[in-house]
Amino acid sequence: MVRHSSYIELSQSSLKKNINFIRKKIGSHPKISAVVKANAYGHGIPQIVQMLEKCGVDYFAVASASEAEEVFQNCSEKSRIMIMGILYDTDIEWAIENGIEFYVFDYNRFQIVKEKSKKIGKPAIVHIEVETGTNRTGMNWRDFKKAITFLKKNKELFTFQGVCTHLGGIENINNQFRIKPQIQKFNEAIKELRKKKFMPTYRHMACSAAALAYPETHYDLVRTGVVIYGFWPSPDTYHLHLQDSGKLKDSPLKRIISWKTNVMDIKDVKEGEFIGYGTAYQAYRNLRIAVIPVGYSNGYPRGLSGKGYVLLKGKKAPITGLINMNLFMIDITHIKDVQIGSEVVLLGKQGNNVISVSSFTNFTNLLNNEMLSRLPAAIPRKIVS
Ligand SMILES: *Cc1c(COP(=O)(O)O)cnc(C)c1O
Repeated sequence: MVRHSSYIELSQSSLKKNINFIRKKIGSHPKISAVVKANAYGHGIPQIVQMLEKCGVDYFAVASASEAEEVFQNCSEKSRIMIMGILYDTDIEWAIENGIEFYVFDYNRFQIVKEKSKKIGKPAIVHIEVETGTNRTGMNWRDFKKAITFLKKNKELFTFQGVCTHLGGIENINNQFRIKPQIQKFNEAIKELRKKKFMPTYRHMACSAAALAYPETHYDLVRTGVVIYGFWPSPDTYHLHLQDSGKLKDSPLKRIISWKTNVMDIKDVKEGEFIGYGTAYQAYRNLRIAVIPVGYSNGYPRGLSGKGYVLLKGKKAPITGLINMNLFMIDITHIKDVQIGSEVVLLGKQGNNVISVSSFTNFTNLLNNEMLSRLPAAIPRKIVS
């Protein structure tokens, strides 16, 4: 096979550290469901699923049936998959047949699922998602009570795997006034289930920020996404961790992704000449530049035109001019021994320097998650130690 213009490396040992850190924060009881939606936050579902299983994770959460299918094709037989988001009626049979778990947030869904489950002769494995104040998906109180009665009556056709909800902005301390009422509402739902003597296997509400900072949200399972990949959900979450640990500085989370390519061409540009399209960059003196075979179509944000850096021979090389569709140029005048084929780090470490995701996102207003999840699935991913 021919080579792609760049490649991504994923560190198994860093992932292990992140999982250990989460486990330390949540204690021994709650199960970890790893959120691998959006191609595992851009890291790559096939590789991340395999790497997570090596760390003992056997429960995966996704946002759609098509993502569930990709996890299913790459996970071991005993691992579980949970669809938290979109599942069309036409895919319900597929989900039941393959033991894929899914949220039900619309009471009318149960009737359709019941028919399919009867037809297949296998129970559907469901989580009831209740509305607690986020006002995305989530069942209202009246339907929730009806749902309990319905599931109790149809026990042979349904496995009641979970009751759950999603918090609206626990990453940010400014939003905390929204959180307490949500926890209260969720506890009422649990009380109702206890009253009816009908408890599911898992009660769950916590995303990464809640898992790290709010023990009262842990229940039986946490759905952790961003923290698995080594990112703090927000500055607030990081500062809460520092407060808790009494440290001034701590970096227990490790980024697992690096993104690399190689120098494609090198040339000398005379003072006063323009580099690339238009007049975005004019050589302020005689310059030596290198051409990089990556552009915005490869997920490199165009907003970094004239602003970003890459690493070459362990040194920072600034971007000169615009990010093109498949190329951009960098100034290497100050770097010795660069050759065509020299390794270029777009994201990650080289020597004593590092290009972090936040250095991308500070310049472009992209969220970390946004920048990462836009990395094309076509870039090859390689697992490294
Ligand atoms: C994305 C998502 C999560 C994980 O969120 P992180 O902040 O990345 O941990 C958890 N639950 C639901 C319903 C989600 O959509």
